[in-house]
Amino acid sequence: MNETTRTYDVIVIGGGPVGENVAERARAAGLTTVIVERELLGGECSFWACDPSKALLRPVVARADASRIPGLDPAVAGPLDVEAVLAHRDKMSSYWKDEDQVDWLNSVSVDLIRGHGRLTGPKRVAVQTPDGDTIALTARHAVAVSTGTRAALPPIPGLDTVRPWTSREATSADKVPGRLAVVGGGVVAVEMATVWQALGSQVTMLVLDNGLLERMEPFAGELVTEGLREAGVDIRFNTTVTSLTRDGGEDGEVRMTLSDGGQLVADEILLATGRAPQTRDVGLETVGLTPGDWLTVDDTFRVTDVDGGWLYAVGDVNRRALMTHQGKYQARIAGAVIGARANQEPVDDAPWGAHVATADHAAVPQVVFTTPEVASVGLTSREAERSGRRIKVVDYDLAHVAGAHQYGEDYRGRARMLVDTDRNTVVGVTFAGPGVGELVHSATIAVTGEVPLDRLWHAVPAFPTLGEVWLRLLETYRG
Ligand SMILES: Cc1cc2nc3c(=O)[nH]c(=O)nc-3n(C[C@H](O)[C@H](O)[C@H](O)COP(=O)(O)OP(=O)(O)OC[C@H]3O[C@@H](n4cnc5c(N)ncnc54)[C@H](O)[C@@H]3O)c2cc1C
Repeated sequence: MNETTRTYDVIVIGGGPVGENVAERARAAGLTTVIVERELLGGECSFWACDPSKALLRPVVARADASRIPGLDPAVAGPLDVEAVLAHRDKMSSYWKDEDQVDWLNSVSVDLIRGHGRLTGPKRVAVQTPDGDTIALTARHAVAVSTGTRAALPPIPGLDTVRPWTSREATSADKVPGRLAVVGGGVVAVEMATVWQALGSQVTMLVLDNGLLERMEPFAGELVTEGLREAGVDIRFNTTVTSLTRDGGEDGEVRMTLSDGGQLVADEILLATGRAPQTRDVGLETVGLTPGDWLTVDDTFRVTDVDGGWLYAVGDVNRRALMTHQGKYQARIAGAVIGARANQEPVDDAPWGAHVATADHAAVPQVVFTTPEVASVGLTSREAERSGRRIKVVDYDLAHVAGAHQYGEDYRGRARMLVDTDRNTVVGVTFAGPGVGELVHSATIAVTGEVPLDRLWHAVPAFPTLGEVWLRLLETYRG
């Protein structure tokens, strides 16, 4: 076993999309930077989350859209070509190889050390390499933890014996299970139920709550429920698994006892029951933090409970918004802040805006790629009510927008805009319906830009697009 030591300005633990961007920005600020990555550079998003899941969903959503268009519907009446869909998914996941991302990292002059990184004290990190060697790293300015999350599994008796699917298996499996049980009702659950039902599984969803997508506006979950049921998914609300076993070894069936006393048998079970931070084994105890905790940060991504201001936590691991685009936004800010502080520049004077994350609190956009799609940004009406603001909720039936007619004959969808009546600005928007994913950025600009409604009237939507919903929402608001 060899032991070597190296010093960098900045050490980033975790080379997912967020760690990569922190490193690139810190390097662009002139700091020597290294990423420590124990698996694949590109992280969960590139290999077991965003990229493979969207590659699997795209043909399903495109087929659903095409099947509503007269003249096109016969062409998409048959089943999906499963082999081709999975092959495309493999390609979009770069065949689980990260050479391209390594090339990119080289091109921006950031070093990479493969191995498991652990803090060993202030500004110090030890990397255990796959060969069993240890590399001791010291940071002159900052360490950023961007170790992301893993699937959180509920403590169900028998779980350790059934080899359940998590989001990793659900996005990388190369066989279609005949029967798939999906536990959960959030984004991963609804997206993966959509995929596997379309690829030929009989999917049963076991949902603890009384509806799907409970963190969003209720109509979004209702429309997605309708879509999944029409596709043939069996959705059981207020139900969960109380115990389970797998019969007859590796390929046997999974037998579940349910909270309503019933039984369910499936070939695979997917647990889409939330995420937990990957902080159990990163040496948090050496800097006074508790292993396994989420890391709490300020708006410049400094960990609040550590003295000296050298430790940052960026991306999923800080729990502010578990999405790649939001983590990369945080990374751009954190990398620039680290650079500014190291170069003794003011942190709120960057050319492209303040070095402080505000969007995390006010305007997090999200798209759920189901049939129909859901897109939202900012507050939901429930959150707005809790915030104590004076809000007017404006609803519009998307089927009445001219652009919706281009999507076929029985368009079903809805839009909701929340107006802060004291400030005359939009503070939240939710759309549900075919094609709404591409609308979300218009809503994000309205919310983030705090565009007064008087000005929004002058943002003229093109005819005939779904964007005309903005005009209808304004008209409905005016009354
Ligand atoms: C099924 C699924 C679909 C999703 N789809 C979308 C989507 O469409 N759009 C979207 O915006 N978001 C999506 N997300 C969320 C998105 O994947 C995450 O928000 C994103 O990956 C977070 O990036 P990150 O860099 O913070 O963490 P990660 O991507 O988890 O990367 C963390 C990295 O750190 C490494 N690491 C961990 N511990 C150590 C250690 N001790 N030493 C060295 N390396 C370590 C890991 O190997 C990993 O490479 C999806 C998530 C799931 C589960």
